Order: sequence, then structure tokens, then C-alpha cells
Amino acid sequence: MNTKMLINGELVDGAGTLDVVNPATGKAFATVARADDAQLEAAVAAAKAAFPAWSKRTYEERGAMIGQLADAIEARKDELAQLLTREQGKPAAQAMGEVIGGIYQLRFYASQRHEPQVIKEDAKARILEHRTPLGVVAAVTPWNFPFLMVTQKIGPALVTGNTVIAKPAPTTPMCALFIAEEAAKIFPAGVLNVIVDENDLGGPLTAHPDIAKVSFTGSTGTGRKVYASGADALKRITLELGGNDAAIVLDDVSPKEIAPKLFNGAMINAGQVCLAIKRVYAPASIYDELCDELAQLAKDAVVDDGANQGAQIGPVQNKMQYEKVLGFLEDARENGTVLAGGDRLDRDGYFIAPTVVKDIPDSARLVREEQFGPVIPVLKYDDIDDVIARANDSEYGLGGTVWSADLDRGVEVAMKIDSGTVWVNKHLDLPFDVPFGGAKQSGIGREGGDEGISAYTQKHVINMALS
Ligand code: NAD
Repeated sequence: MNTKMLINGELVDGAGTLDVVNPATGKAFATVARADDAQLEAAVAAAKAAFPAWSKRTYEERGAMIGQLADAIEARKDELAQLLTREQGKPAAQAMGEVIGGIYQLRFYASQRHEPQVIKEDAKARILEHRTPLGVVAAVTPWNFPFLMVTQKIGPALVTGNTVIAKPAPTTPMCALFIAEEAAKIFPAGVLNVIVDENDLGGPLTAHPDIAKVSFTGSTGTGRKVYASGADALKRITLELGGNDAAIVLDDVSPKEIAPKLFNGAMINAGQVCLAIKRVYAPASIYDELCDELAQLAKDAVVDDGANQGAQIGPVQNKMQYEKVLGFLEDARENGTVLAGGDRLDRDGYFIAPTVVKDIPDSARLVREEQFGPVIPVLKYDDIDDVIARANDSEYGLGGTVWSADLDRGVEVAMKIDSGTVWVNKHLDLPFDVPFGGAKQSGIGREGGDEGISAYTQKHVINMALS
């Protein structure tokens, strides 16, 4: 278990330390290195110094090293998945899914190329476009997917020739330090740096004048600060922010069949997924039945330490979020009818009983804000246009789902939802070659797909006279 940061090719101790807490126990299980301002400066300087040589290497050379990183991590995937559960809390199978997903993601990016291309040619001129890397990238990530969020950023940033400073969330630094340990053996000094903070270096890092591009995933509130801090230097910024995704259930589905899909979509990773289902809208004709089905699933769900066999829902990842979710429960008890759950579990760690709430007004906090926990409000509707308007009445627009026995009807509704991605009769299918990101205040830019890779480059046009 590596506890050291990666700066300029060396695994180093920190100027300070940081305790890492297992959310299933509420107790620290590791103490890791933590950077101060001087180590942040050293990391940025190392990345800046490494950039000229790294950016001149070919895609093949850079991709080969990213592939080696994927292989090295895969050889230790069981260890990493266990570590992920320990620091983040998710059940073992979900942790392994995240690890495998991150490895595949690295391999996908390792295979990507942006070759120069002739975009226009006639008797008089040939116009060539190629893409050049931007420089030093700050990759700032949240605590809900501490491995996958890092691979999602370092893969495209490195293959396109940028150098990187990765800064994980302070409550989940271990997966990033795991990557650091293997990367130290593969990449030239300074190409990938990993630093840990105490929620104090994200600001200075993203505002640093030597950072050319910020790729940030986190809350909308912090995203606004990152956006503002990039203005002076006109930084390139990608923001993947919060969501409050609606699931719209049409009147032609079977409540019994659809309920497990909705429940999983809301409760996966204890609801701590940007794209989790955060509000369910059901027609009056099946409302009560659907609520009862969801409540039964909540009562039956096994909530436990993710390391224990059979656990379906783990703890909330950290104390601050746990207290925030308890606040939403209070709101739910006051404004709605709690059908299942509704409280913390009487045990150590940050466990909350999966909660289903009905008859809650659209104005309630649980409906308007992002709960990011295992609590789902179910709202009734009579008219499809009205429910589309209610679903769209949000500052967020990250994802959403529509559920119908008739695909065409489902697609018709999906087309009217103002979000980056809307799934019909499925959820959380995110191929790496498909762009993903937010509408409205859920973000700016896209990750994945060609756009997600291009975001780490700029176009460079050579326009030559032929006659
Ligand atoms: P957060 O905004 O509190 O923190 C995210 C990261 O930003 C952390 O590494 C943190 O240390 C850092 N940070 C803190 N202050 C900063 C500052 N002033 N400048 C720069 N960086 C700073 O978010 P969180 O609570 O860790 O994550 C949960 C949020 O992330 C939820 O809103 C969730 O929806 C969102 N999220 C979005 C996506 C997406 O792809 N859209 C994916 C996962 C999570």
C-alpha cells in the first residue's frame, strides 16, 4: 500500500500527513503523505520541465507507456479493488467493476491517435490541421470513483502529449497513490505527478499560471470557483459537475419489473454517483404500486461494510456527506412520507438505511438539490408535458432516464429532457468512445469520445500556398 506522492519521478514523503478513514468503521486505516505549497510548486515545475520532451514523443511511444501502466495495475487488481472498498466504501463487486473499467479506459486511451490531416486542398492551397498538446494539466477528482475518475483524465491527457498533476479528493487519496506507485516505474520524471492535499491545494493548483488546462470533476459549487480562477490566464477548462437526474416512468411499464432497475440506478455506490437517479416521476395510475415495490427493495437491501460478502449498499463515503444526507432525511420526514429507511443505522461508520420517500412536493430540498446518498423521492404526475417541464426545472442537466414498454414513446420524451445524456430503458451505459458531460450547470465540455480527447489539445493549422 503506497502512501507516498509522486513528484518529478520520485515517490516522496509529504511536508505533512493525512489520515485516511474507512467509512465502514469511521476509523483511520492509513496515514499518507500530504503536500504543502512548496511541493505543489515542485510538482508543477517538474511537469513543466517534462513537457517539451514528452510532447515530442510519438503517440505510439506514449500509448505504449499508458498500456504498461494498465498492465501493471491489472496484475494487482485484487489488491486495488480491496483498497478501493476500504477507502471509498463501495461493495467489493462494484469496486472490482471500477478497477476493471479504469484499466480498460487506460487501454482505450492508449490506442487513440490524433494524426495531422489535410482539411482542404485545391489547386492554390493545402490546409493541414494537426493537434498539439496544451502543456501541464491539472486533473482534480472527487471521492465517489477514486480510481476511474483519475484514469479518465490521465489517459487522454498523457496520450495527447500533456504532462499531468493529479490531485485526488482528500478523503480518497489511496487509489491515486496506487497509480503513482506503478507510474513511477514507467513514465519519465515529471510526466505524471500525484499530490495529496487537505482540500487546500485545489484552488492554488487550478489557479497556477503554469497550468494550461484544468480537468475538474466535482460539485457545481467548486466548479464555479475553478472556472473563475481560470479567467486571468484564459485556461482551457473541462468541468464535470453535479446532477439531479430525473427518471421518468411512463404508464405502460410494469411497476414490479421496473422497480429493481430504478432502485439500482438510485442506490448504486450508496447513491453517490453524479448520474444516479435522484428523482423518480411516476404516473398516478401506477404511483402507489411503484412506491411499494421500491420500498420493499429498500427494506430487503443488505447494507453493510462493502468488504463483507453479500453487501449491496455500503456506507456514505465521508462524515461531511453523511451529515448532509442526514439533513435531507430530516427534510424528507418533515415534507413527505417515508416508506422505508429514513434514518442512520445504529452502528459505527457512515451507514444510512436506503430510503424511499413519497408524497413530497417539488419544492422540497430532497427534490431540488443533489442528495448524493441512498435516498430517493418518488413524485406523482398526471400529464406528460407537465412532468417533462418539472424534470427540466433544475439548474442541473447531467443525465436522466425514461422507462417505457414502447421505445418510440420513450425516445420522444428523452428528446425533450435538457441533459447531456438520456438513457431509454437502461442506465449508466458509458462507452469510452461516446461523449459524456453536462448541460446547464452540470458542466462545460465533454469527456469520452473524440471531443473528450480533443479537449486536451488545440488545433494548429498550416495553410500553404500551392501556386
Ligand atoms: P468537491 O467539489 O467538494 O471536490 C472535488 C475536488 O475538488 C476534490 O479533489 C477537492 O479537494 C477539490 N477542491 C476543493 N476546493 C477546490 C477549489 N477551490 N479549487 C479546485 N479544486 C478544489 O466534490 P466532491 O464532494 O468530492 O464530489 C461530489 C460531487 O462531484 C457531486 O456533486 C457529484 O455529482 C460530482 N461528480 C460529477 C461527476 C461528473 O462526471 N459530472 C462525476 C463524479 C462526481
